[in-house]
Amino acid sequence: MVIAVFENDKFNIIYSKFQNKRMPHAILVNTNCMEKARNDLNLLIKKISCPNLYQDKCDKECNICYQLENNLIPSICDIYPFKMTIDRQQILNLKEKFLAKPLYLDYNIYIINYCEMLNFKSATTLLKFLEEPEDKILGFYLTENLEKILPTIRSRCEIFNVLYENTVNNSEDLEPIITKYLQYVKENHNITFVYNDVFLETNFERKDYAKMLKHLLQLFELKLYNKCQNDIVNEFNIENNIKIMELIKQAIIDIEANVNIELCLMLFSRELRNYYE
Ligand SMILES: [Zn+2]
Repeated sequence: MVIAVFENDKFNIIYSKFQNKRMPHAILVNTNCMEKARNDLNLLIKKISCPNLYQDKCDKECNICYQLENNLIPSICDIYPFKMTIDRQQILNLKEKFLAKPLYLDYNIYIINYCEMLNFKSATTLLKFLEEPEDKILGFYLTENLEKILPTIRSRCEIFNVLYENTVNNSEDLEPIITKYLQYVKENHNITFVYNDVFLETNFERKDYAKMLKHLLQLFELKLYNKCQNDIVNEFNIENNIKIMELIKQAIIDIEANVNIELCLMLFSRELRNYYE
């Protein structure tokens, strides 16, 4: 259930800027937890778009909030990286979409998730939005890696550092699942079987899958420093570690971007298997 209170107070500051008509046209959210920041951002968008005073029940009872909740509003453009990059075509599509006046909302709103993955060309294409701000366009840039953001983007946004507490995963519960999963991948089981046998009985929600992959990513990170305790992770060839980490990162992004989880994990498993020697 969505609660009409921001988890992080910085979003109250952004919201009051909006109420005082001093909203920046481009906001860069630098956070330690993409998932929580995204929840807060979704709430912010509802609060600034709801024709009434937004409250929880709006998601069902208010037409605009219902459509926002179900991603049905055409005036919102949600951009995620593909293959670890946000390419120029995605930005061109955005620009074309925003030639039209906003529909249902007062603003055309775009969100660049993992904006550190804008490459030089796509960032350059974006600059027009940032340099000649139009009244009816709002942009939100989200990242967990502020230092990797291109200076041209960074300098044209108002930056908010949004830190959340308790973002550490409960890794004890995840470890046995990950181990079982990798064991099956390694033993070259049928990928559908791997998915069914490992995941269908876990009662995982979307966020749990992302969590599991984030934990897996941590294990590969530890492996780089020879500190990984998980035997089956250690069996992967260290020379491929960076590639495997990129593969995991992209799977996390895909899952957070609402793709079909089953399909995503099956493709992921298939590619991961290639790295077992
Ligand atoms: Zn509403």
